[in-house]
Amino acid sequence: MKQLLDTRVDELIARCPCKLTTAVQIAPLTTFRVGGMARVLAEPSTESELVNLLVVLRDLELPYFYLGLGSNILVSDHGFKGVVIRSRGELGRIEVSGSIIKAGPAARLLMLTTCAARHSLTGLEQLSGIPGTVAGALFMNAGAYGGEISDHLVDVRIVSRDLSIQVMKKSDIAFGYRSAPELRDVIVLSSRYELIPGDRSAIYKEMRRVWQLRREKQPIAFPSAGSIFKRPPGDYAGRLIEEAGLKGHRVGGAVVPTAHAGIFINDRGAQASEIAELIRKVRSDVYRKFAVMLENEIIPVGFDVDPFQIHV
Ligand SMILES: Cc1cc2nc3c(=O)[nH]c(=O)nc-3n(C[C@H](O)[C@H](O)[C@H](O)COP(=O)(O)OP(=O)(O)OC[C@H]3O[C@@H](n4cnc5c(N)ncnc54)[C@H](O)[C@@H]3O)c2cc1C
Repeated sequence: MKQLLDTRVDELIARCPCKLTTAVQIAPLTTFRVGGMARVLAEPSTESELVNLLVVLRDLELPYFYLGLGSNILVSDHGFKGVVIRSRGELGRIEVSGSIIKAGPAARLLMLTTCAARHSLTGLEQLSGIPGTVAGALFMNAGAYGGEISDHLVDVRIVSRDLSIQVMKKSDIAFGYRSAPELRDVIVLSSRYELIPGDRSAIYKEMRRVWQLRREKQPIAFPSAGSIFKRPPGDYAGRLIEEAGLKGHRVGGAVVPTAHAGIFINDRGAQASEIAELIRKVRSDVYRKFAVMLENEIIPVGFDVDPFQIHV
């Protein structure tokens, strides 16, 4: 099996249309700062490099994972035995035309929100301060304080499963709370947002207010992946975790912080296995106490089986 993978990787190196590095540590590429090695890191910087890369990967039947800023994933200690794709360069570009903003997949959400403010366009203020790329945010339908990235979406250019390039309108995607089901098996190439002309100083003021709230409510001094769980209907994961007496609970370097129970932190070099064990413990205790099964928001990468699964 390993030999087969090695042969295919050798062929990928020969045919790869973009920058490629072998044996790369994934931990520094994530905000949780955990995870083993990627067999290969491929970094396309243009749309054609990305599409050509996907064609080669399909031909060679190599498994791949598309990495954004790594702010919503937990990578296995054994890493990812395939190709991690991380876009850069031109793919991080943002263009403004009137009240429409177009963003490449690698553009940071921070760039999108500040670009909108600079052009006196309102609608994205609630997203300011969420780490991640625009494509990662779309995949998650990221949001905060009553706003979601899909709110002002016009359309998304994607590479579909059959590797054709298509445009999906907002109405083609059944966006829900932290979910965008139709984007699950596609690669986002770019997305467009229609915003509303507004008062620049009022926009900056609202962004500062949101930043301040985030600073007060989130443990930004420690590596984390934001909220571990989705909000259960009519409740908050943090409240249930606190009521279950789990604040301060620790597995190795993985901790439920006392201040923000919904956002686990990596304190003192946690392993992914420790974070996964902590997640299982919390799900299990919360279920036993409240009969609520918390659903994970973070995405496991490189695990052979679901690392968050518990048996009740
Ligand atoms: C301190 C902190 C605070 C946070 N606060 C919030 C918050 O308030 N609200 C919120 O919603 N989230 C929050 N998050 C979670 C996270 O920032 C968001 O989910 C973010 O949108 C993920 O983007 P990313 O680029 O990091 O994606 P990644 O974590 O790298 O990837 C997430 C998923 O997107 C997929 N993906 C990435 N790029 C593409 C692409 N081009 N095409 C197809 N799929 C792609 C990946 O394959 C993966 O499945 C927080 C995280 C941290 C660390």
